[in-house]
Amino acid sequence: MGSTTGPKANGGIPKTMKALQYSKPKDFAVVEIDVPSIGEEDVLVKIEACGVCGTDLHYHKGEFMAKYPLIPGHEAVGTVVAVGRNVKSIAVGQRIAADPMEPCRNCFYCIRGQTLLCENMTGYGGNVPGGFAEYCRYPARHVTAIGDLPALEAVLIEPAACATHGIERMAPKVGSTVLLFGCGPTGMLLAQLLKLNGTANLTIASKPGPKLDLAKRLNLADSFIAISDTNAKEDLDALLKSNPHGFDIVVEATGAPSVLEQSIFYVRKGGTLVVYGVYDDAAKIAWPPMRIWTYEITILSSFCSTLKFPVVMEYVRTKKIDFRGIVTKTYRIEEWAECLEALEKQRFVKAAIVFD
Ligand SMILES: [Zn+2]
Ligand SMILES: [Zn+2]
Repeated sequence: MGSTTGPKANGGIPKTMKALQYSKPKDFAVVEIDVPSIGEEDVLVKIEACGVCGTDLHYHKGEFMAKYPLIPGHEAVGTVVAVGRNVKSIAVGQRIAADPMEPCRNCFYCIRGQTLLCENMTGYGGNVPGGFAEYCRYPARHVTAIGDLPALEAVLIEPAACATHGIERMAPKVGSTVLLFGCGPTGMLLAQLLKLNGTANLTIASKPGPKLDLAKRLNLADSFIAISDTNAKEDLDALLKSNPHGFDIVVEATGAPSVLEQSIFYVRKGGTLVVYGVYDDAAKIAWPPMRIWTYEITILSSFCSTLKFPVVMEYVRTKKIDFRGIVTKTYRIEEWAECLEALEKQRFVKAAIVFD
């Protein structure tokens, strides 16, 4: 079983495994721990790859739902190696992607059908062990079969699930003009789904660099605007000049408060501003209420997703969404420090942790 050193148990599943574990914020190590045991409704997954995302930086710092000791990793893909007695939906040997957000189904919001707003959310890789380990336990209802989709593409199913929720929230009218600030991996997925859902004209505005180059190469928008750090005001003024009536929908997907603050001025009358980025806890912005009032601007947000993996797989099966080329770098868990640094400095478009 690859690099696993522990003694073998039944069916070739070892007793112990390697995992990247945090004992507290910023304090992590590769440890040898027991392979998780599974309940009657669970599956055990041997992880092939797990996407690395900006949220992992927040977990690194102890933000969000982080609970320690923590094995991060919420974009996991692998093969089912054991199933609980009551599991009928998936079988040993099938390759899957795991939906990391498990609502409690009992709280104030869950019983109203708003599972994404669950007050007791279990997050694999957030407050329970996730995919930066050789094996992970998931409830069977949280894994979706992926056939032979390559692992480095399948790790994008989770962020794509979040993007489909975002699209549902913004509900673009047929023929919409949309401005998307930011074209990281999430922006690239949003762009593809926007084009499939009502958007007639999509503009991507982003700082120049490998992400914007890739977005252009993948032909993800109708126009691309580079906003340089040194010339941001002029670039943004030019964008407004060439779109004097603004856009029906403006999506802020950079996570930069300064961009969010500006983005309200690109929303046309009757339009919608979507807060999609992940911001620092302490970030604050200022908007003129008169602008929001006189323009009748709708401001909405999209946080993550629940129960959207099957929807994404429908787009994948019909080849309407393309994950190829977005993961540009892979690391082993032993290289986590290096990966974190590169993530912080944005040296890759998207990375994934891989296992044997
Ligand atoms: Zn993520
Ligand atoms: Zn709940």
